[in-house]
This record gives sequence, C-alpha cells and structure tokens, in this order.
Amino acid sequence: MMKIAERLGAGSPCFSFEFFPPNTEKGVESLFRTVVDLGPLEPDFVSVTYPGSAQVMPDPEVLRKRRLTLELTRRIRAESGIEAMAHLTCSGHTRDELCDILDQLAAEGATNVLALRGDPPGGSGGAFVAVAGGFSHGVELVRLVRERGYDFCVGAACYPETHSEAPDAGVDLAHLVAKVDAGVDFLVTQLFFDNAHYFRFVDRARAAGIRVPIVPGLMPVTSAGTVARMPGFGASIPDDLRARLDACGDDAEAILAVGVAHTTEQAVGLLAGGAPGVHFYTLNTSRATRAIVSSLREQM
Ligand code: FAD
Repeated sequence: MMKIAERLGAGSPCFSFEFFPPNTEKGVESLFRTVVDLGPLEPDFVSVTYPGSAQVMPDPEVLRKRRLTLELTRRIRAESGIEAMAHLTCSGHTRDELCDILDQLAAEGATNVLALRGDPPGGSGGAFVAVAGGFSHGVELVRLVRERGYDFCVGAACYPETHSEAPDAGVDLAHLVAKVDAGVDFLVTQLFFDNAHYFRFVDRARAAGIRVPIVPGLMPVTSAGTVARMPGFGASIPDDLRARLDACGDDAEAILAVGVAHTTEQAVGLLAGGAPGVHFYTLNTSRATRAIVSSLREQM
C-alpha cells in the first residue's frame, strides 16, 4: 500500500475522505455503502477517526469504537483496495497500550497512521490530562513511532486558525515545528472556511522550516447542525457565507446547495494556489462530498 506522503508529492491533486466509527452494526454497513458510493471518485486514501477522551476511560463504548477504527481500516483496505489510515490518539492510553496498537497496525499491514493527542473530555475547551504512563502531546506519539522503528508514514494535525489551547499562533507553530522534526511526514489541517487562513498558515510554516506537505481539511456545510458545531472546531465562518446560510432559513436542500458550492469554490482555490490535495471531513455521508469531488474532477 502507498505511503501518503509519497502520493502527496506526486504532482496531481490527492483527494481523501474521513469517516468516523458508527454507533451501530447498521451504521457500519451504511458506512461501507458510503465508501462504495465514493469509490468511483477514486479517493487516494480514506481515514477513520479514533474516538474518545482520556478521563472517561475505560468506557466500554469508547473502547468498542476504538477497536472498530482499527477493524474498519483493515476491512476497507482488504475489501475495497483503497488505502485506509487509522487515526490514533494518546488520550486514555498508556505508552505500553500505544505500543500494542502500533504493533497490531504493523502486523495488519498498515502503511500510514495519523498521530494525534486527542481532545480533552467533552471536546475542545477543557484541559487535557494524560493518564499515568501516557503522553501529553502528539509529538510524544510521533517520537514513539520513530524510536520503535516502525516503517509507518506518519501524519499529524495542524491548525490554520491556531489550536484552541495555544496562547498564540507563534507558540503553536513552534510546537508544530518540534512535532514535524520528531518524524512527521505530512500534515492535515483543521477545517476552515476561508482559504486565506490556509495560505497564511502555509507561508508561516514554510518560513519556520516546515517542508512536509500540508493538506487542507474541508468540511462541507450540510446542515444547520454542522454550522452550530463550528466554534468547537475553532473554525470561523466568514460573514458572506453566514449570510448566505442564514438566507436559507430551515430549507435543508438550500443549505446543502450553499455548503457544496462554498466547499467546491474553496477546493478549486486551494488547488490553484498550490495545495497538494484536499482531505474531506465527510461526516459519514457521501452526497455533498460526491457532488464536490465530481465537480472538481470535471474541472481538472
Ligand atoms: P498536539 O500536537 O499535542 O497539540 C495540542 C496543543 O498542545 C496545541 O495547543 C499545541 O500548541 C500544544 N503543544 C504541543 N506540543 C507541546 C509541548 N511539547 N509543550 C506544550 N504544549 C504543546 N481527535 C480525536 O480524538 N480523534 C481523532 O481521530 C481526531 N482526528 C483529527 C484529525 C485532524 C486532521 C485534526 C486536525 C484533528 C483531529 N482530532 C482528533 C482532534 C485533535 O485530537 C485535537 O485537536 C487535539 O486537541 C489536539 O491534537 P494534536 O495532535 O494536534 O495535539
């Protein structure tokens, strides 16, 4: 299977789709249908998030979903032939547990892993507390992968509008430089709705010496609910987009149309400006992502 960093350096745009482990067995089958639906768009890879927060562990439901992340990536690779990358977080895990999971991923033939810290309980806003014998920052997980000599291509997260816990953008960037220097091969950004955030961030990252590909992450607005969750992601909504969404009222189809048009425009602008590809936060549905990527493929 392909190392994502190599694909990102290949010259043509790299498209990827992110999913999360569903709650039910029915949800798992529906997720597979979504993966199949998106198959004709030939994603270069898909990724599956790693749920849960440290202080609620061990929560059987979180543990079940975490196992599902690993199982889904293995199944997608085996059954669809599409490269599937597991996200892995430090939260709730000791170093030894992380070693076991990395061993499992290596034994199953995983090529790529997204190394993250994880959010504090209840999402961003609180304080992250590492478990005894665990890690406090993503950089420690990246170091662990490198120290133990796994041959994974390692991805990590970055924040064009600055991570919510960082005192300022400069400090956040200094931590990112250290994380990349520890052995990160590519970065995926937090979602954003104004490309200016991405381009400014890439310029600052390059000036700070970061050379790895920086993949923009985009989430199409598909409902009023997605808009309401944006502050939690640290993503600001530009006034003109908010006005267009407000004008839709409760008309779900109109909101979807505005969201698809905005994300398509963003993706076109990002690729034209030199982004190596686009990572889509699909929210496990195919409709918006299919419309956006089909339109992009027609324009390429
Ligand atoms: P870090 O790199 O550890 O950064 C977190 C904060 O700590 C930042 O403010 C940083 O500036 C600071 N920092 C970093 N290093 C140091 C240091 N050495 N000393 C002091 N401060 C430091 N969450 C999940 O739970 N599961 C997922 O699957 C998931 N997938 C994601 C995918 C992407 C592409 C993105 C962008 C985020 C994802 N998240 C996921 C959310 C992520 O876990 C949170 O944003 C989390 O709060 C930070 O994770 P990180 O790996 O960026 O942390």
